[in-house]
Amino acid sequence: MNCNIIKDLLPSYIDEICSKDTVKMVEEHLQYCEKCKACFNSMQQEGAYVGQLPEEVAKAITPFKKINKKRRIQVIKAVVITFLTTFFITVVADSVYQNVGVVNQFFSPMDRGIVDVGSADEWERITFSDNNFLEKDHLIFDSIFWEKEITNHANNEQDVMIRVKDENGNIIVDEFQILHGTSVKLDSLKRNEKYFIEIKAPQGRFFINAT
Ligand SMILES: [Zn+2]
Repeated sequence: MNCNIIKDLLPSYIDEICSKDTVKMVEEHLQYCEKCKACFNSMQQEGAYVGQLPEEVAKAITPFKKINKKRRIQVIKAVVITFLTTFFITVVADSVYQNVGVVNQFFSPMDRGIVDVGSADEWERITFSDNNFLEKDHLIFDSIFWEKEITNHANNEQDVMIRVKDENGNIIVDEFQILHGTSVKLDSLKRNEKYFIEIKAPQGRFFINAT
């Protein structure tokens, strides 16, 4: 029996859709032909491998199970490659988003402010630092991703008064209260302008965030 014919029959043999005569013929050939035996083993392993694939891949493959074996393996390879590519793109994009401060600061901008209030009667300017740990004494809403929200961190346990000044020292937003653990949205503030945020509060350290 010609090896090429056996190789053509092997997929149907593995899928158990051959006639009894063909099964007998293939099995007899496999007993003495090492080459076809090896071919048979690798085809069988490939079939077993499909059974161990992740659920999404297995589902995607189901419609192709009836296509002939050679074509099926091509389809499975394409599906697996697509699955892995998507998976890696997702993982890489996610880790870039998580780890790179520059990207994070751009899409979810946040400046963290810390101020030590020495006297309850005086206004203090808040110093901020962004996700890249750059310190500055002002805020600039430099992208459309800013919410323009000032938050009185829940850990502060005190309500605070806030006011906003512009570069020339003019008061742009007059004093307003932020209860501890809440935020106030400052929609009137413009993009790309320098603002100084001042606080009046009981003595102590305060964490005020801008998002
Ligand atoms: Zn053979």
